Amino acid sequence: MSDDMTENNNQKFSTIAVHGGAAPDPGTNARATPIYQTTSFVFDDVDQAAALFNLEAFGNIYTRIVNPTQSVLEERIAALEGGTAALATASGHAAQLLVMHTLMECGDEFIAANQLYGGSLNQFGQSFKKFGWTARFANVQDIDAIAGLVNERTKAIFVESIANPGGVITDIEAISQVAKKAGIPLVVDNTLATPYLCQPRQFGADIIVHSMTKFLGGHGNSIGGVLVDCGTFDWMASDKFKTLSAPCESYHGMVLGEAFGPMAFAIAARVLGLRDLGPCISPFNAFLIASGVETLPLRMRAHTENALAVAKALEQHEKVAWVSYAGLESSPYHSLAQRYCPKGAGAVFTFGLKGGYDAGVKLVNNIQLLSHLANVGDTKSLIIHPASTTHRQLSDEARAIAGAGDDVVRLSVGIEDSGDIIDALTAGLAQL
Ligand SMILES: *Cc1c(COP(=O)(O)O)cnc(C)c1O
Repeated sequence: MSDDMTENNNQKFSTIAVHGGAAPDPGTNARATPIYQTTSFVFDDVDQAAALFNLEAFGNIYTRIVNPTQSVLEERIAALEGGTAALATASGHAAQLLVMHTLMECGDEFIAANQLYGGSLNQFGQSFKKFGWTARFANVQDIDAIAGLVNERTKAIFVESIANPGGVITDIEAISQVAKKAGIPLVVDNTLATPYLCQPRQFGADIIVHSMTKFLGGHGNSIGGVLVDCGTFDWMASDKFKTLSAPCESYHGMVLGEAFGPMAFAIAARVLGLRDLGPCISPFNAFLIASGVETLPLRMRAHTENALAVAKALEQHEKVAWVSYAGLESSPYHSLAQRYCPKGAGAVFTFGLKGGYDAGVKLVNNIQLLSHLANVGDTKSLIIHPASTTHRQLSDEARAIAGAGDDVVRLSVGIEDSGDIIDALTAGLAQL
């Protein structure tokens, strides 16, 4: 199998997915990466310990900050995304928190798409206020509206490559132009696409985040997140990003942006954000997710093929009002999908029921095979009615903007036989 999108030491994507960051264990020759289930690591001597604490040498100190199982996963994801370094975290939300903690001071702002995962809308719009960080939301398709929100306190733009839940494909390159003009980084949540379907760095992303809980882990068994430093942003070009460009009191006045160049963001997020806020991933979850990544290309091909077949079947169904899947030619995002996700538009999409809210509740209550739950990116097919679950905290208006109106049903199409998935949906729809 050949794949040209990501190259690293001349290795192709599928090879990196299996081998990236890993080698037989130096202590035992174990072929699989061991789960280093330890809190701490013995120092060689006082000088080596001092070098580690001073950031003069990289090494293992304490699993809140770094752990060898976690490091394998981080190197693998960084390589798959074409970045310089990555930092794995306890969850996708923890990765988002550490990104903003590294970029923002109290009183700062960032611009976010209003087509986001419901939990991100809550985190940005509600909880971040307590840190004195303001999220300003704009329609991701309205590039002028995004540009119009930039001011001297704006420190980032945050979008999803494929937006959850509405099947929206973001014009990453157009938004990266706005970010470049403003002198701020573009942060892309690439959870629903994965680096197999979309490579945000090629279109101007500076930082990439994932909920590894979803397709990267891929089996619905572990929560995890990751941030990737693309190495593209010059933190020393202005004094906007004090964590990176000002002397750091925590490390004897070291200027992290100077000392660590293209990896400075990921290092700052680790040695300040992760160190002080604490949302580290467990070695066990890092192991499970790194194992899941080995089959990412195989799974994403099966997911996207099945999603297209299911979307086409739903589009023909008399009880379905509309299907919003960028892989369909009827989608207004079809041409953006061909540009940003040429191998497939992902496996998460929404459709509308002619019967509205009540039909949505009835379908999820009666359906077989598909699991009714709040997750995406499992091998198993999943179904949810966002208006009664994930998006119920939002106002009616915010729900409609986020693509989670009353009639909307969201699917995460798994890797079962596509005929069986279609049969289950057809049987469920017949009961409405
Ligand atoms: C699930 C999800 C998140 C949050 O990740 P957790 O691992 O649940 O914290 C963020 N963004 C997107 C697009 C998601 O699907």
